[in-house]
Amino acid sequence: MATTLTGPVRVRFPPSPTGFLHVGGARTAITNDLLRHSLGGSLILRIEDTDRQRSDPAMTAQIQSALAWLGIEPDEGPFLQSARVDEHRAAAQKLLDEGKAYHCFRTAEEIDEKRQDAHKRGVTSFYRAAFPPPPADEVERRVAAGESYAVRFRMPMGDMTFSDLVRGEVTFVEDVLDDFIILRSDGSPTYHLSVVCDDIYGGVTHVIRGEDHISNVPKHIGLFQALGAEVPTFGHLPMIMGPGRKRLSKRTGAASVEEFRDQGILPQALYNYLALLGWSPGDDREVMSRQEMIDAFTVERLVPSAAAFDYDKLRWMNAQYLSGEPLAEVLDHLAPFLAEVGLADADRDRLGAAVDLHRTRAYNLKELAAYAVPYFIDTLEYDPDLCKKFFKQPDLPAQVDQLIEGFRTVETFDIEGVEAVIRNLATDLDVKAGVLIHPTRMALSASKAGPSLFDLVAAMGREASVRHLGNFVRYLRDNPPPQEEAATT
Ligand code: GLU
Repeated sequence: MATTLTGPVRVRFPPSPTGFLHVGGARTAITNDLLRHSLGGSLILRIEDTDRQRSDPAMTAQIQSALAWLGIEPDEGPFLQSARVDEHRAAAQKLLDEGKAYHCFRTAEEIDEKRQDAHKRGVTSFYRAAFPPPPADEVERRVAAGESYAVRFRMPMGDMTFSDLVRGEVTFVEDVLDDFIILRSDGSPTYHLSVVCDDIYGGVTHVIRGEDHISNVPKHIGLFQALGAEVPTFGHLPMIMGPGRKRLSKRTGAASVEEFRDQGILPQALYNYLALLGWSPGDDREVMSRQEMIDAFTVERLVPSAAAFDYDKLRWMNAQYLSGEPLAEVLDHLAPFLAEVGLADADRDRLGAAVDLHRTRAYNLKELAAYAVPYFIDTLEYDPDLCKKFFKQPDLPAQVDQLIEGFRTVETFDIEGVEAVIRNLATDLDVKAGVLIHPTRMALSASKAGPSLFDLVAAMGREASVRHLGNFVRYLRDNPPPQEEAATT
């Protein structure tokens, strides 16, 4: 913790391609990304695909595209862990040759019996106490006889202490440490062996990953040392909890980067939000550009306590980014959402004007796309209850007719021109401007609230504004308010 790191670093992000990129994994990738950019160095992307049954090449592609979407560009990779299985096996052989690992001929039943026995006694580690390594001549005989065996690492005796960047000094007492399998009886290397071999091969200096891996550290340190390699610095990031302190999963809400992307969260917002789940800049800044985060990043301010995922906070942060990012960038990210509402081919200039006007009110890209629809659609649907409640004046249709005429003929259809039409007509009719403003807003957006009405009309343009007002007048005439109500207004 009280450690000041110096670069350059070599960090890695090694997802298993068994599912979409979970936000926990994304937060790990982001923390590594910030560390490598703040200190200089490289980020290695390694795909841990040695579990053939559960690995899916389509998921590798998904993970890569999710990282790219977040703006995380690895300097090296993707490397497939499966490509180096021979090297992993060779490392196991080397450990066997040096007496740092041994053959294990025990059957699953034998081991299980001892495990259950230990369990009853409340003891976690049992193997090395129960099964001494077989002598060399026995090994030779049984191997020659073609008996199958696993290879087990001889864990050094004694407690194991290391300094974690997030959690500080961590000790695993000897009692919880045990000899463990590095090569299964089918010859496949286990995760522990593969990950350490690949970290050595990649020259990894810092292993920053989720806290669910902290109990693996003694095994990994044992292997790094036995293989004659320098032990990297470890840092274990706290778990991200969902609502109700449950593990964040699909059931507690969106949990993968893809889901947030599909909900209309901007990658900058998700990156920023996830970066701050477990790290703090040390002041009260929250919305920070990538560069600001890189400049402020230090491992000393990684937070050890579990982080609660707050969907509302992410929504809020997304709204900040929707308002503040360059318009062209927002429009790029908006494209798939526009396609969903039938606006794939909408004119970019009009779209830009509409989006710019509404983006301070949207919490996600879906909402923002919906705001753009009235600018391009022929007819809007009006809410009968709202209209009945707010537009009771019997003379309103005639007033809107006049407004339409004003919009049709005003020379320059811009904010000032539109405002002048409305204000002049209100003066002529001897009504407050609001009497015309509210129905106009409803006519143009089928909504009661929105940005400045003059801005809205100008951005919508003459043609669409006149068309919507014409439709609205027809709607009002077809759906007149009940007489007695009308009389009281
Ligand atoms: N493949 C492991 C995972 O996805 C990562 C292991 C590690 O970072 O050491 O959890």
